[in-house]
Amino acid sequence: MFCFPSLSRPHIGTNFADFDASKVTLAHRRRSHGASSRTVYAVAERPLDKKQRRREIMQSEKFNRRGFASTKEEAQGLMVGEFSSELLKALRESAYTLERDGLTVLLAKAYGFCWGVERAVALAFEARRQFADKRIWITNEIIHNPKVNTRLKEMGIFFVPEHVDERGMRHKDLSGIEPSDVVILPAFGATLDEMTYLDRLGCQIVDTTCPWVSKVWNALDKHQRARCTSIIHGKWNHEETIATASFAETYLIVKDLEEAEYVCNYILHGGDKEAFLNRFQNAMSAGFDPERDLNAVGIANQTTMMKNETAAIGKLFEKTMMRKFGPTELSKHFVAFNTICDATQERQDAMLELVEQDLDLILVVGGFNSSNTSHLVEIAHQRGIPVYHVDTAERIGPGNRIEYRDVHGQIQRAEYWLPKTGKHGGHVRLGVTSGASTPDRYVEECLDRIFLIHALAKSEVAV
Ligand code: SF4
Repeated sequence: MFCFPSLSRPHIGTNFADFDASKVTLAHRRRSHGASSRTVYAVAERPLDKKQRRREIMQSEKFNRRGFASTKEEAQGLMVGEFSSELLKALRESAYTLERDGLTVLLAKAYGFCWGVERAVALAFEARRQFADKRIWITNEIIHNPKVNTRLKEMGIFFVPEHVDERGMRHKDLSGIEPSDVVILPAFGATLDEMTYLDRLGCQIVDTTCPWVSKVWNALDKHQRARCTSIIHGKWNHEETIATASFAETYLIVKDLEEAEYVCNYILHGGDKEAFLNRFQNAMSAGFDPERDLNAVGIANQTTMMKNETAAIGKLFEKTMMRKFGPTELSKHFVAFNTICDATQERQDAMLELVEQDLDLILVVGGFNSSNTSHLVEIAHQRGIPVYHVDTAERIGPGNRIEYRDVHGQIQRAEYWLPKTGKHGGHVRLGVTSGASTPDRYVEECLDRIFLIHALAKSEVAV
């Protein structure tokens, strides 16, 4: 006899029908009756582990992660039409430098849309055309770009409502989704509870999770097999890290090197357990015990963190475990796999090169909640170069004004931010880059405004 799992509240970040995915068991089976094919869950002795549950869901006939051949070409055409830029193409073709009337623009050699984001948006476009007569939801912003998300809303894609509680935990309300609906999972992925719930509901799932994010989830599976706690370098309330943590049995999220040092110090010298639990109350698996769960660790990361910091955190834990257990025992207490995404790495490397170009200022274009974009801003800030982070061209002007997000996350306004001449008295040298969720067209819109401001400023000088 089959029945649905009993209900109890999941422990992290979900608020849909009080669904507890951990009750899903090995005894479930799939029926294949054409469109009505769905997973049926049964009460059984042996619960599925998280990897098995994910695999089962991904094998469902209603789970699509490759897109739709019949709408692919049309979606590609739309992407090019809406997001590409002739100006940036010209910049790339002229050694990433363009001079216009006393303003020299230097474009980072790697910038903008990464292939994971491009793929996710293309899949969403394909899904909209493939299921033209169906209601389509997305469980989160598809990517961290306000204009792209607005574009999806204009196409009739609904965003699952979410609220943030007083502890900063995010809760989604999936109750409005019907079995006949289509649900898109964004590039950052979705939690295992969400995936299980949607699979159980029987709706069509279009998974745009970036393969680099899935690679991190695979690393967590390896940690579990090695009986290690996953140390995740990331922000505990970032969508990707919430999803990633949901695939780990035992985990601790550290946001930076300073938090990693605190944990390593605890591993070596012990400390105030209550203070530890308080500090990481939102950033650890249920029932986490630092005395029991830090004997063996594996490193994973949110794909968009600073690569140098992730590497330093990995080294720190490795050294700590070596000190505690000795070099011959290290392999039993520490595992690491390289899970830093290439696109993040390339954009950070290109930014490090750009800041060496004797610049007067830097413009960074990208969503204000985009982690990879804010790390590009940090690199410029650390070099002492004035840096302006905008999410859309509308932040620039009218006149020589700008509204931007500073390195501390505060919205600032500046007048006369674009100088008339460079610091050496000649051309103004403006560095430009954009985050992995930013289409080229949006950077072009920003540059068009900047060229206009500069031309007006020059004409004032001339008068
Ligand atoms: S930044 Fe990396 S992990 Fe994130 S979507 Fe792009 S390719 Fe994927």
